[in-house]
Amino acid sequence: MSEPVARSQVSEVPRTRRGVLLGGATVLASAPLWTTLLAPDAAAAVRPASPLDAADAPVTPELTPERVLHLLQAGNQRWIAGRLRHPHQTVARREQVAAGQHPLATVFSCIDSRVPPEIVFDRGVGDLFVVRTAAQTNDGLVQGAVEYGVEESLTPLLVVMGHQRCGAVTFAVETLNAGREAPAHLKDVVDALRPAYEAAKGLPGDQVDNTIRAQIRLTVFQLQHDELLEPYEREGRAQVVGAYYSLDSGAVDFCV
Ligand SMILES: [Zn+2]
Repeated sequence: MSEPVARSQVSEVPRTRRGVLLGGATVLASAPLWTTLLAPDAAAAVRPASPLDAADAPVTPELTPERVLHLLQAGNQRWIAGRLRHPHQTVARREQVAAGQHPLATVFSCIDSRVPPEIVFDRGVGDLFVVRTAAQTNDGLVQGAVEYGVEESLTPLLVVMGHQRCGAVTFAVETLNAGREAPAHLKDVVDALRPAYEAAKGLPGDQVDNTIRAQIRLTVFQLQHDELLEPYEREGRAQVVGAYYSLDSGAVDFCV
């Protein structure tokens, strides 16, 4: 089991040393490939953040899954209450993360225009990896992107977030109920939602909402059993959680 890693440590040490700090042989072994492809200078010096950013920085610098979940919940409470602080949205922050990124979490969510993760969690630049597809439907490319967030930047929390009245799920349910075939690549979306549709079929209550929640649970299950992510979860270095966003209240329920 590795020791918790302070945010300041993660930000200031070379990438290969980060692997040593975390005791992560997998991270260390694969870092050069990712570094070459996507993060040419992640070990560069980091400039001090603005006073606003500092005020919003974690009080306890340990980036455990629990700590990150608390930060996201706190941001969502600000969104619900209309008291946004817009952390990490300054020029200083932009310049700080230009040299390298160490996001808090990966969020895999729907493309819906009403559910932007950075806003509903009141976070800013460099805080979140965000992967978005219709009804957060998963495939190999998505799974690879999610793996990247954990493997490369060691984001300790992975949030799978569906939402109330999801249009893509509604479309899939209507299509499957009618026995129709969706046109073009919408068929791929419907096919990807078929397991959730089948899981929710016949349950009491609203069929669309049941399917939305089933899709969240199934996607969490898929990611928890991902070949690359599973060891991180087992060792407590990363956690996959489901979340349901209410369009009406703005609240994110992590109890899905
Ligand atoms: Zn949606």
